Amino acid sequence: MKSRSACVSVDLDALVCYTAIHGLPNPEPGPDPVLHAGLQRFLELFDAEGITATFFVVGRDLDDPVYAELLRQAAGAGHELANHTENHHYDLRSKGLATIADEIAGCEKRLLRLTGHRCVGFRTPGYNLSPDIAQILAQRGYVYDSSVFPCPPYYAAKGAVMAGLRALRRPSRSQMTLPGHLRAPRAPYRMHPDAPFAPNAHGPLWEIPMAVSRRLRLPIIGTTLPIYGMPQLDAAFDDMFNLEFHAIDLVDDSDGLPPALVSRQHDARTNVAAKRHAFRAAFKTLRNSHRFRTLADATGAVQP
Ligand SMILES: [Zn+2]
Repeated sequence: MKSRSACVSVDLDALVCYTAIHGLPNPEPGPDPVLHAGLQRFLELFDAEGITATFFVVGRDLDDPVYAELLRQAAGAGHELANHTENHHYDLRSKGLATIADEIAGCEKRLLRLTGHRCVGFRTPGYNLSPDIAQILAQRGYVYDSSVFPCPPYYAAKGAVMAGLRALRRPSRSQMTLPGHLRAPRAPYRMHPDAPFAPNAHGPLWEIPMAVSRRLRLPIIGTTLPIYGMPQLDAAFDDMFNLEFHAIDLVDDSDGLPPALVSRQHDARTNVAAKRHAFRAAFKTLRNSHRFRTLADATGAVQP
């Protein structure tokens, strides 16, 4: 692993992912405002900042030719496209092995057709990593997984939201994450698929956890940067700092989001300019000590 990499990634989760989390009806068919506006704005921001980033792509969304072309150009400009499954099932870890393998292979094949390269990295939907998923990644020759979120406050908040929605008889279509995340290291580690939340020097895969703060393990992700900014970096991030965004992080309520979603997703009410300002400040802090690289580059992967 090269030293001191800042890896910026964007999970390209479509609007339907958010209506599913909140137990809302599916959006009307048509161009997806989160994917189109969000991706375009992140590409412009990265271009202005000189950042090559990693985009986690949901395979089925590539049926949209305009969106697919934007991603093909992004890959041509040096950004990494990585696997975020074919259909973004939040309960992927509870599916049978054959379904998990199909979900991983489906997106992988689409990315190969789009870019001519096999992807080397994976992120599971909703941080729902499991040994079954990790084993299939190892069998398929992936270099890294980036799905662990070692963040007790996130775990508590997600549990409370899901219980509340159950009580309202409007259950979330998301699924609770495994508690192993809470004990997982904050720094990247070699991972054995049988025990994906613990380091193992002989493990075949890198695990690159989402960044969390030192003591309280508060999340450091796109959603939180406009709220409390970047903390001081500590030694856990000497090798790599993994900053996760979602496409919706550069979208706001002027982009045609359903009002029922905006009322539940309070970051959608912060305007894009304010969010972009907070992200640029975070990049400035990171640039002092780290070099921006894609996750594939930082883990030494050679894209076949
Ligand atoms: Zn996602």
